[in-house]
Amino acid sequence: MNLNRRTFVKAATAFAAAPRLIASANATSTREPLRQFDYADVQLTGGPFAQQYDALHAHYLALSNDRLLKVYRQRAGLPAPGKDMGGWYDRDGFVPGHSLGQYISGLARFGASTGDTACHQKVHDLVDGFAATLGPNNQSILRPDTNLWICYTLDKHFAGLIDAATLSNMPAAKELLSRVLAGSQSLLPAKGRDRIAKKDPPYDETYVMPENLFTAAALTGNPNFRELARRYLLDRELFYPLADGKDPFPGQHAYSHAIALSSAAKAYQVLGDDTYLKSLQNAFHLLTTQQQFASGGWGPNETFVTPHRGELYNALSTTVDHFETPCGAYAATKLARYLIRFTPAPTNTAHADNLERVLFNTILAVKPPDSDGDYPYYSTYSPVATKVFYQKKWPCCSGTLAQTVADYPLNIYFQSDAGLYVNLYTPSRLRFKIAGKPIELTQETRYPAEDTTALTLHPASPTAFTIFLRIPAWLTQPATIRLNGKPLDLRGQSGTYAAVHGTWRAGDRLELTLPQSFRTEPIDDLHPETVALMRGPVQYVALNPTPELSQARLALPSGLKQLAPQSFIENYSGNQIVFIPLHHIQNETYTTYFSKA
Ligand SMILES: [Zn+2]
Repeated sequence: MNLNRRTFVKAATAFAAAPRLIASANATSTREPLRQFDYADVQLTGGPFAQQYDALHAHYLALSNDRLLKVYRQRAGLPAPGKDMGGWYDRDGFVPGHSLGQYISGLARFGASTGDTACHQKVHDLVDGFAATLGPNNQSILRPDTNLWICYTLDKHFAGLIDAATLSNMPAAKELLSRVLAGSQSLLPAKGRDRIAKKDPPYDETYVMPENLFTAAALTGNPNFRELARRYLLDRELFYPLADGKDPFPGQHAYSHAIALSSAAKAYQVLGDDTYLKSLQNAFHLLTTQQQFASGGWGPNETFVTPHRGELYNALSTTVDHFETPCGAYAATKLARYLIRFTPAPTNTAHADNLERVLFNTILAVKPPDSDGDYPYYSTYSPVATKVFYQKKWPCCSGTLAQTVADYPLNIYFQSDAGLYVNLYTPSRLRFKIAGKPIELTQETRYPAEDTTALTLHPASPTAFTIFLRIPAWLTQPATIRLNGKPLDLRGQSGTYAAVHGTWRAGDRLELTLPQSFRTEPIDDLHPETVALMRGPVQYVALNPTPELSQARLALPSGLKQLAPQSFIENYSGNQIVFIPLHHIQNETYTTYFSKA
C-alpha cells in the first residue's frame, strides 16, 4: 500500500478533520454519536489490564455455586449444601446475598468477550439456582423481615438477570425480571429518596436503580420497570442542581451518588431530556477538578469533600480510607464512558484521559482477592501505606470488582458515523464493520512501559474511514504518527483527537508514539506544595519509604533518574528513593504524596 494511493486529511484536531455527522433518523443514536462496542467485539490480548482481567475471570469462575446460593436456599427452606460464605453475605450478615447478581453479571460479561462457555454455563446454573428459590410470591431473599436493603440488593438481581439474558443467551432470565419485580412490589418505597436512615432503618438506596430499571423496561416491554425508573430518579436532590451548575456533592456518600449518575445517563438516553446530560457534564467537572486525588479516586471516608478547605490534604493524615476503589472505579469509568458516547465529534480528550487515569491508578492497582472472600475495598494515599483487604468478607466491592474489570474491553474503542475512535492504548483485538464491511484491528504495545502503540488493520477489502487517535492532554512533547513506517505530516496536538483518514488495506500499520514525561499534581488548591508524581497516565509512588520522606523537600520531577522502563530513583540526604507505578505495588509499603522543593 503506497501513500499516494490514498488521501489524508491533515488536521491538528479531530474537530477540524471530522466529516460533518450525518443527521440520524434515530433519536437514540443522535444522543449517542459515539457508540460503544459489544463485549464480543473486543478481546484483551496482553499487557497489565489483560493480566488482571484473566486472573479475575478465573477467580469468579472458581467461586462455589452452592456457597453463593446457600443463603438464598436457606431463606426458601430448601436443602442448602456448602459452607457459609461469611462476612456480609450470610443469613446474619450485613446484607445477605447482596452481590450474587453482580457475580452473575461479571461472569456473563467475561463470557461474552472471551467466548468462554464455562462462564455462560455458570451464569445459567446460578440463575437457575436463584429461580428455584423464588417461591410462589417471587420474593426469594428479599423479604421485609429478613433484608432491610431491598432496593440495593434488587438492583443487583436485575443487573445479573439483564446480563444473563443479553450476554449469556438465557431467555429464561428475561422472564425472571418481571417475576422478581412483581415479587418486590409490596416491599418497595412509594417514592425515591436520598440516602436515609443509615443507623435508623429502613435504610436503602432507591436512586441507584433507574439505570437497570430502564434497561429491563426495554428488554421486557414491561411498563412497570419504566414507571419505577422515573419514580426513583434522584432529580430534585442531585440531577437538577447539577444541571443548574450547582455543587450538591459536599458531604454526600460518594459511591452511591456517583453510581446514581449512571441512572442520569440512562435517563438521558431513554427520555431525551438534556437536563440529565447537563447534570453529567457538571458532575464530571466537579469530580475531576474538586474531588479527586491524582489517582482518579475520590471520597475519603466514603464522603465527598467540601472544596477549597484543604480537605483532601487533611485526609492524608486523618484516615487511611481514601477511595472505595472497586465500587468507585465502577462509577467513574461508567460516567466517563457515557460522556464519551454522548459527546459528538469530541474536540478534547478530557473524558477519555480521566478514564485512563482511573483505570491505571485505581482499579488496576488493587490488591488481588484471595479465594475465600477477602477483597480490596479502600485505597490508601497516606504516607507509608500498604494495600490491604477489607475487614469483612464479601463486601460490596467484591461485586463491582467483577463488573469493572469485565468491562475493560468496552473502554478501548468507540465508533461514530465518522470513523473509529481509539481511546485506550493496550494490547487488544477489535472486530467491527464500516458500511457493512468487516474489519479486524489488532493493537500491539508495551505502553505505558514504552511510548509506542501499533495498530494493524485487516479489512476484508480496501475500506475508507477515519481513525481518531486520542492524544492525551498530559503530553508535553509532540506525538508522532507513522503509517507503514513513514511519518505522517499530521500533528497530534495534546488534548485532541488526531484524525487519520485513509483507504485502509490489509496489513496497513499505524504507529502512534506518545512521549511520556513526568509532572507533579498538587493535592488541592490550598496545598500546592504537596504533590503526586505522574508520568503520562500513571501515578508513581515511593517504594518502601521512610516516614520522614513525605516531609522531605524533593526535587520532583527534575531530580529523577531512570533505572528501568518503569523504575526511577532520586537521591536525597544520602538515600536513594525508588519510584514505581502505584499499580506495580504488591505487598511493599509506598508513599503517594510528597513535598516539593
Ligand atoms: Zn464497595
